Amino acid sequence: MIEVNYGITSAAMIYSVLYCKYYEMVKTLGSDIDFSDDDDETLLMILEEVGDSGFTPILIADRERESWISTRSVYAGHELLRELPSSRAEEDYHNVVRAIEEFVLAHELAHHLLGHTADAYPRAKQNESYLDGVMRKYGIKLPEENLNDDQIQEVKADILAILTMTGALLDETTDARVYRALAGSIIGLTALAHIHDTWVVADNAGETHPDFLTRFSCAAEVITCIAKRIPVGEEGGHPLGFLTQLSGFVSIILNNWLAKHLEGRQPVNVLSLTNWIFERSVEVEKELKQLRLRTD
Ligand SMILES: [Zn+2]
Repeated sequence: MIEVNYGITSAAMIYSVLYCKYYEMVKTLGSDIDFSDDDDETLLMILEEVGDSGFTPILIADRERESWISTRSVYAGHELLRELPSSRAEEDYHNVVRAIEEFVLAHELAHHLLGHTADAYPRAKQNESYLDGVMRKYGIKLPEENLNDDQIQEVKADILAILTMTGALLDETTDARVYRALAGSIIGLTALAHIHDTWVVADNAGETHPDFLTRFSCAAEVITCIAKRIPVGEEGGHPLGFLTQLSGFVSIILNNWLAKHLEGRQPVNVLSLTNWIFERSVEVEKELKQLRLRTD
């Protein structure tokens, strides 16, 4: 039996709010700022003002997670972890929450289907070889890190979960499903790592789960392999562009953590984030043209 406990839904809700605020910030930055403008001071002012709207809630979550860990319950204590930006539709927010829950369920279901349980599922062997076949078809490889058997099972459960959510498993991929799998897996894995402090584990030989960086890069790789077969949408959007946005979200949270643990490391600020997203978007555009997914 598989169930999603309230802690997961609660975490999914908080991180969906964080993401929605981050998204609104990036959208405002993209539309308000003229990068060719050489008035640096005005640019910096806009960046600083807008920047807080996406960064502050993340810093609050960072402070509150200490108590989540000690009480083993995740709850939105601060209003900035509950309230959506007014420009954001409720429906979009609920879609993100549901996508995270779906990813968690699909991951657990994948463990069952692949026989990673006490009573092995009778068809596990066939399922495993079907999965291998689909992975070969899309050019998906297991991470190159040294992983123990438990960790390989976790990575495979992530891969099967993403193949299921995107529809790639049964050759029914649609762009809407790829977007959903992206949001569910990347924001879901980020919430997990942030709450449990499992971003980077120096010696993870004895751990049952791989660290965040391993799971994140594997998930991003799987989705990139699938997205390479998806044409650019009518409004010009592509899952690879969405992946860039999500990576920016992850990098704020991750760099914040690194800055606390590594001497001399500065947390990402809104200017460096904006520059990074801008440069990465230019690269994505080049990739899309090379893949002939964008032809104009
Ligand atoms: Zn698992």
